Amino acid sequence: MVDFAVAIRHATLEAARLHRDLGIQAKVARGTGRVDVYDTIARLNVPLFFTHLDGLLGVYLREPSPGVLVTTERPQSQQRFTAAHELGHHYLGHKPSLDEEDDMLRRAPFQIRTDDDPQEVEAEAFAAVFLLPRWLLDLHCDRQHWTDADLHDPVNVYQLALRVGTSFKATVWTLHRYDVFDRGTAKAMADVELKRVKQEILRGYEPANYRGDVWLLTDRDADMRIEGGPGDLVVVRLTEHSGAGYLWRVESLDGEALAVVADGREPIGDDDGVGGPTLRRITAAARARATGAFRLAEARPWAPSAPLNTFAVDYDLAGPSLQGWYEPQRKVHFQRQLRAAA
Ligand SMILES: [Zn+2]
Repeated sequence: MVDFAVAIRHATLEAARLHRDLGIQAKVARGTGRVDVYDTIARLNVPLFFTHLDGLLGVYLREPSPGVLVTTERPQSQQRFTAAHELGHHYLGHKPSLDEEDDMLRRAPFQIRTDDDPQEVEAEAFAAVFLLPRWLLDLHCDRQHWTDADLHDPVNVYQLALRVGTSFKATVWTLHRYDVFDRGTAKAMADVELKRVKQEILRGYEPANYRGDVWLLTDRDADMRIEGGPGDLVVVRLTEHSGAGYLWRVESLDGEALAVVADGREPIGDDDGVGGPTLRRITAAARARATGAFRLAEARPWAPSAPLNTFAVDYDLAGPSLQGWYEPQRKVHFQRQLRAAA
């Protein structure tokens, strides 16, 4: 009888060791708030290639030398999870692995079936805690002022998942692993329909479809970087001191990349909204794979040079990685091929 609990504990310790060895925690705290799994694979000198894979999400090769393949056919969060799973196979010294779509999508981290392959259970646990270690959960909860009780709201779990760059389901089961949810709560949360969560955030705005992600940004996200996709929606919700004549206005927004599609106000709490601050909600839709900055200023329209507050986020709407080498490795591989051909 295989001891799955031992396999999971081993994977968890090894993921923490890799974080420590590469100084990942400090880098994430200074940077985007996400663990960069592709960079980690590159730093271990393992070639990483994105391509169309029939019926597979990812592949780990060992012979003649290690390599990782990741599908181009899935959203960014699943590509990242697959890459972390293959990194797990590599770092834990596993056999080569062809990771089938059906298996991978059926599985959830830490949820064991007795006929599971222990190597797969280990790689899955490694991926989950590598991408969402407890310190990263704490970092986002501190930043957002979320308590465990706040994480019982699917909107907050979804926003956490977007910020750390893992799927909603993987996030839910990792929170269960950290005892934020008991099993029943995790199961109910994992079954929540994401479309409904998105609709709740959008408050009446109806996009053409619900495939893109919906980011909900507040002043707690100031100066952060969004790593999303070209079909995403960004809702910025900020306190507005309209009673004193201050109104938020968009200062800079690349209209080709993002366009404002809805703009409204709602009262704060039970306040009737007369004279007191209100909440301003500006919804923007991503239109292209682009990077840029979204800047707003809260100012009196007649005194535009003196804003009361400003708000800015950087965005990268690249979405899933496309066919080809992991970009920073590309040059290295071309040089290697040239040398081999010479
Ligand atoms: Zn695997």
